[in-house]
Amino acid sequence: MNTGHAEIAGAGYAGLTIATLLARRGWTVTVHERSDAVREIGAGIFLHNNGLVVLEEAGLMEALAPKGTRLLRDRMVDHRGRLMQERDLAVTRTRRWSFPRQAPLEVLHAAALAVGVEVRTRSVVRSATPEGALLTEDGERHPADLVIGADGYRSAVRTSLGLTRVERRLPTTSIRFLLPGRQLSPEPMSTEYWSRRRRVALAASGPDHTYCYMACPEGDAAGSEVPVHVDSWSDHFPRLGDLFQLLHRSEPYKAYYSWVQAHAWSRGKVALLGDAAHALPPTLGQGSNLAMSNARSLVTFLGRFDAVADALQAWERAVRDTTEATQRWARYYDLVTKYWPNPLSGVRSRIIWAFGASPQLAARMRRADRTPPITESAA
Ligand SMILES: Cc1cc2nc3c(=O)[nH]c(=O)nc-3n(C[C@H](O)[C@H](O)[C@H](O)COP(=O)(O)OP(=O)(O)OC[C@H]3O[C@@H](n4cnc5c(N)ncnc54)[C@H](O)[C@@H]3O)c2cc1C
Repeated sequence: MNTGHAEIAGAGYAGLTIATLLARRGWTVTVHERSDAVREIGAGIFLHNNGLVVLEEAGLMEALAPKGTRLLRDRMVDHRGRLMQERDLAVTRTRRWSFPRQAPLEVLHAAALAVGVEVRTRSVVRSATPEGALLTEDGERHPADLVIGADGYRSAVRTSLGLTRVERRLPTTSIRFLLPGRQLSPEPMSTEYWSRRRRVALAASGPDHTYCYMACPEGDAAGSEVPVHVDSWSDHFPRLGDLFQLLHRSEPYKAYYSWVQAHAWSRGKVALLGDAAHALPPTLGQGSNLAMSNARSLVTFLGRFDAVADALQAWERAVRDTTEATQRWARYYDLVTKYWPNPLSGVRSRIIWAFGASPQLAARMRRADRTPPITESAA
């Protein structure tokens, strides 16, 4: 089906990307967003090659690039200050940009509005029907040729269609900061420090900011505390004491990791996109990238089939494997930091070094980065 009307639940990365791509292909599109504005809560975000190519093809990187930093290296450092891994991000397939979190969403929102997408804020979706309609809390029914559930990990669309296999919050605490200035990150790189079951990282995030994130098991009371527990974190990372003093005075964004698996990503004329279909821990920075990349593939499949339901099933068969492999690796990464026995930290450092030295293993873990979306030119 080449054009029609689409109703979309959720104005996040997934919803705004698919809305823009459909509208540019002649669809009329309405997006329902439950909040009173389109906004991101949080600090920084990493975009990888598979998401970046979508933004580039859509001509949005010119507007976005000045707000971000193209990172050229990333490093992992262990509890003794030894390098566990160092990656060259200058190679196209592994490239990574770092942004203040609101920047890409603002650019996507502006792009959607520019092509006539109607974004209705304070419009809460309650359910969807496979025949093609969204039902909102005000009692309205919104019929469509295509319905997208891009309403995040607690998706009402997914739940209403009985598509949820797993929906869980994982027991990891994530604390993030967007710090003013680049004094802590003068180079275009990111560094992640590991000690026992905690991680802390610093990355350049555009011309004016440094992105910092920390992670620890949810059961680690001192590690999960906000304001940041300076002594406890300094005990894990003695070289970073000044940083923790600064974080203690800075505004934290606390988040949790989520995990979603769906029985299927579509039913009839309704598709699930982004976290609604496949929420994953952010350890590989792939949630938004997969959402954008899968959105781009979806419009390709809609152009190939007369019936929307057939297009949605073919799309899922084509992209689900890479997405689920990425979910698994993101989970392993979280588990290796969270449950590794503390006395064996030295062994872990050596394993991570060996892992990084194996191009095959690294390529498997970062398969999504290297898998561009399926476009019309693909066979
Ligand atoms: C700590 C942390 C760090 C992360 N770092 C990265 C990273 O570096 N790179 C990366 O790619 N990903 C990262 N992610 C993951 C990324 O944030 C998500 O994968 C991404 O936001 C998913 O986009 P989405 O549009 O599917 O869902 P969401 O961003 O959750 O958007 C869903 C939208 O739907 C709206 N909504 C929900 N329910 C309803 C309803 N019933 N009716 C109407 N509207 C509704 C919500 O208000 C929201 O605006 C991170 C996640 C976390 C927690």
